[in-house]
Amino acid sequence: MQHVDIAIVGGGIVGLTLAAALKDSELNIAIIDKSPCYQVLADRPTARVSAINQANIKALQQFDVWPHLQQDRANSYTAMHVWDKDSFGDIHFSCDEMGSDTLGVIVENQALVNALAQAVEAQSNVQLVTAGIDRVLAGPNQTMLMLDNDDVLSCRLLVGADGANSFVRKQAGLPITFKDYEHTAIVANVKTDEPHNNVARQAFTPTGPLALLPMAEPNVCSIVWSQTPEQASSLMALDDDAFCHALTAASNSVLGTISLKTERAAFPLTMRYARQWAKDGVVLVGDAAHTIHPLAGQGANLGMQDALALAESLSSLSAAGKDIGLYKHLRSYERSRKTEATKMIAAMDGFKFLFDGNDPLKKLVRGIGLSATDKLTTIKNAFVSHAMGL
Ligand SMILES: Cc1cc2nc3c(=O)[nH]c(=O)nc-3n(C[C@H](O)[C@H](O)[C@H](O)COP(=O)(O)OP(=O)(O)OC[C@H]3O[C@@H](n4cnc5c(N)ncnc54)[C@H](O)[C@@H]3O)c2cc1C
Repeated sequence: MQHVDIAIVGGGIVGLTLAAALKDSELNIAIIDKSPCYQVLADRPTARVSAINQANIKALQQFDVWPHLQQDRANSYTAMHVWDKDSFGDIHFSCDEMGSDTLGVIVENQALVNALAQAVEAQSNVQLVTAGIDRVLAGPNQTMLMLDNDDVLSCRLLVGADGANSFVRKQAGLPITFKDYEHTAIVANVKTDEPHNNVARQAFTPTGPLALLPMAEPNVCSIVWSQTPEQASSLMALDDDAFCHALTAASNSVLGTISLKTERAAFPLTMRYARQWAKDGVVLVGDAAHTIHPLAGQGANLGMQDALALAESLSSLSAAGKDIGLYKHLRSYERSRKTEATKMIAAMDGFKFLFDGNDPLKKLVRGIGLSATDKLTTIKNAFVSHAMGL
């Protein structure tokens, strides 16, 4: 049986960010994932992408992850254009207004996971284990993990970074609240007639938002089209030509005619929120603790910030010779990150409520709101600054 200080279950963006952020600590870490973290990328970009904000990019640069990122699978975006299809509301953000050369980066999720995996593999305090978990036995001073390759691992702190349906969260009996957003997100990569010019675009339609995220190729975007489940099913049932026709119309032909570059995939969207994020010997990060609507592209960003906050807390505890597994020592992490997640969930609910449907009053409010914000530099800069994670 092997002992480590920290066992992180889940080698996705968040679990790996936590390990990378602990690179200078004395703590021994095992990352356990049922699939190998590093996976050779397909020749053509995949449609699962995330818009990573400036705050997290800075952290990835600081932890030497950035040089490992395959540059042709990531693209900086320099401006955003958001409009309401059903009113006169329209807003433009540009990095120039913020004195920055980028607002963030659109990156394929697997490309980011690969870069993180390569960086943590080079750390002497981390080992990557490919295995599932059969059983978790929690004791007062350590937790034992029975792996499905017959190995046994003991740890002082078990971190659940194992995504929305977290096994660790369930095993630890940490309760969640959840709500069906009554939206399904359709994702795909598309080719557009007009170049995207590194602008991230989002149209709010009465039945849900459509994001066009600029990829490295000048005429390729990744779409996230959130619709009611019924509409999403109908769109998924259309043949490629009819789907692209509907997509071009939903985008107001802002980039001309659109054609598909990849298959479409559909993701039902659920808000989840762990009411308790930690207990003695266990703590949650990322989607294991919260999932939110992707309309503002903040889920992975929020999770990465959890990882950075937890790493800071664990490094300080370890340096002070304190027990990293005690709930009383994990509470400040839990308190601060729960507050951030709650704010984000409330903001997503507010946006979804305001932009859903054809209610004339809501149309007026969003028309005036977007246009006024576009003209009020201070408020606009505060929005952009928040989106950049600054
Ligand atoms: C359509 C869509 C678009 C999105 N766009 C954005 C965006 O633009 N920007 C953004 O910030 N966020 C976005 N998000 C959210 C983002 O994708 C997630 O928040 C993020 O990927 C969560 O990362 P994670 O590491 O917490 O979990 P995951 O990515 O789910 O990783 C969990 C890992 O745990 C492993 N695992 C699970 N169970 C076990 C087990 N029992 N044993 C061992 N290993 C296990 C899995 O193999 C996986 O590797 C989007 C989400 C959706 C649905």
